[in-house]
Amino acid sequence: MVGRLEGSVAVVTGAGSGIGRAIAERFAAEGATVSVWDLDEKDAAGTVDALTERGAKSAACAVDVADGASVGRAAERSLAAFGRVDILVNNAGVFDYYAPVLDTSEEQWDRILGVNLKGMFLVTKSLLPALLDGGGTVVNTSSISGVVAGGGGIAYTSSKHGVIGFTRQLAADYGKQGVRANAILPGAVETPMTRPILEQGDAAILETVRSVPAQRHAQPAEIANLALFLASDESSFVHGSSYVIDGGWTAL
Ligand code: NAP
Repeated sequence: MVGRLEGSVAVVTGAGSGIGRAIAERFAAEGATVSVWDLDEKDAAGTVDALTERGAKSAACAVDVADGASVGRAAERSLAAFGRVDILVNNAGVFDYYAPVLDTSEEQWDRILGVNLKGMFLVTKSLLPALLDGGGTVVNTSSISGVVAGGGGIAYTSSKHGVIGFTRQLAADYGKQGVRANAILPGAVETPMTRPILEQGDAAILETVRSVPAQRHAQPAEIANLALFLASDESSFVHGSSYVIDGGWTAL
């Protein structure tokens, strides 16, 4: 059996943990070589160890996606190691735990927008020449906070709305040159990002999650399945789209 990403090279940001790690594992299982980018070198190495154990080719890359110089070095290292990039998953992100405007400092706003939106711009810009070489694919992690209020605070919701606009414009600008770009919009997913909410039992949030049709958090692997579809040729006619995967949260 040939994997659905056999022979492809993928860069996945935020792949040391949660959804990014699940995407790295799914892609590797489908035959991709994965460059594992994360802020935390140990977390990135942990993902690489797991992939290597299963016989996949991968390498860890410590990077701060919000820092242009750091991103430039990471792009150079990945291209030196694997020679090309076919798939980019811009997944690294940080949460604001529902802070409204009056509880959000300028520094917090800059951090959330810096990682979630500027980071996506910096990473995409650094790898786009390589993606253009081979007609690559970009998958950006937005959130239901990209289309509705209530899934995050002011900075997070603004950043995730921005991701959808970024994705559409990227598809419009480079689609004719063979690069596809699409966004995934998860609802609540059980990861280290949401662990504090689950552990502290924020009643309002947990009640919201229980009231959606699926009545639970998603597992990261369920989100990775959608990322796989968008990264593979099975989605060859999908350009600039946003896919909600939320257990029905936004259907209500
Ligand atoms: P997670 O487990 O916290 O994973 C996020 C990863 O991004 C972490 O490994 C984190 O590294 C990394 N990261 C943070 N800042 C970075 C930076 N400046 N440079 C490079 N890497 C950085 O959270 P997750 O739930 O899997 O989130 C993944 C994506 O899904 C995010 O974009 C998030 O907004 C989105 N999302 C999550 C949910 C959910 O319910 N979990 C719902 C919708 C959308 P460190 O751990 O070292 O900080």
